Amino acid sequence: MTQQPRSWPQIWPDPTTHLTSTRPDHPVLYLSPLRLQETARRFRRGFPGLVSYAVKANDRREVLETLVAAGIRHFDVASPAEMRLVHDIDRGAVLHYNNPVRSTAEVEAGIKAGVSSWSVDHPAGLAQLAGVPRRCEISVRFKLPVRGAAYDFGDKFGATPPQAIALLQQVARGGWSPALCFHPGTQCADPAAWESYIHAAAEIARRAGVRLARLNVGGGFPASRGTGLPALEEFLTRISDATARAFGKDAPQLVCEPGRAMVAEAGVLATRVKQLRDGGATVYLNDGIYGGLAELRDIGLTSRLHVMAPDGTPRLGKPRPRTMFGPTCDSLDRLPDGMFLPDDMEAGDYLLFGGMGAYSVVTSTGFNGYGLRDMVRVERVLDG
Ligand SMILES: *Cc1c(COP(=O)(O)O)cnc(C)c1O
Repeated sequence: MTQQPRSWPQIWPDPTTHLTSTRPDHPVLYLSPLRLQETARRFRRGFPGLVSYAVKANDRREVLETLVAAGIRHFDVASPAEMRLVHDIDRGAVLHYNNPVRSTAEVEAGIKAGVSSWSVDHPAGLAQLAGVPRRCEISVRFKLPVRGAAYDFGDKFGATPPQAIALLQQVARGGWSPALCFHPGTQCADPAAWESYIHAAAEIARRAGVRLARLNVGGGFPASRGTGLPALEEFLTRISDATARAFGKDAPQLVCEPGRAMVAEAGVLATRVKQLRDGGATVYLNDGIYGGLAELRDIGLTSRLHVMAPDGTPRLGKPRPRTMFGPTCDSLDRLPDGMFLPDDMEAGDYLLFGGMGAYSVVTSTGFNGYGLRDMVRVERVLDG
């Protein structure tokens, strides 16, 4: 039985019912707590270790409450503000502070909040953690030149394997619980990336002469954007098998910390067509790259699109290419080319983007008075 979070207002059956009855003129993110709980269950069933949620993908109270109700007790946080968000909902939640670059004040805030796991990728970052209690875990973040993600985090974070060996030895000598972590990059569609990282982790631990208490295999699991992907379970099984092969009887406890793949499928983003020009070749939407569609510019278009008239009638005309602009008075506010939409589409229609629960409402700005702020709870989101 699903426990219903208390702070939620009304629940609608699905996005179409809400759109046709209220005809919102602003973008709306529809979120299905049931779908979110289902995904949490898939992770917990399929992953042979701890499942932590990366708060940055969607930090809304409703999301965190739903995950706590689904049994998620571990959270990957990057800032004191995220620690407070999580602890406001669950005082007992376990915090993993996996932003390796911290100010001195942030380190103090983390100690005060009782962070139990800290990542490091540089000697300067480790030196700052001298006051962290020895019962805590310090996890060395390393990087490899591995491809497969929509964009890589390796330019910004991560020690090379030789640097990681030295850091891991310092962590073990310092008396903390030694661990390794990595993040293959977000929207990583290739399970082989995790296999490479897991084998490299075993090698780093061997060379350092340190037995790992834990290995954190990151987030990065992809969400469908309309093209074929292996099922989530395939990623999880290959991680499990690679760990057994690489570590044998010394296998550390595994941790994963999905953001995108946990929450993307639970969300549908509805935008509205403001105006058509050039016989329909140019489309102005009420949301764009400064709002909930910011990621389309960086990780590409999704083909999970439905168009409907304001009364809910689906537009099923022949798809034709469009130039798509967002609502702000900034010419950069344009979606990537290559979007195809039905030729019977009209101004006032709604455009629904599937799989948009992650990195949409959290990255939206209020630039020019626009942006995605409204989140509405629904029983069901559309598949496809
Ligand atoms: C962003 C982030 C995640 C989540 O990444 P996704 O691609 O959304 O799964 C996990 N761990 C760390 C350290 C992160 O920075």
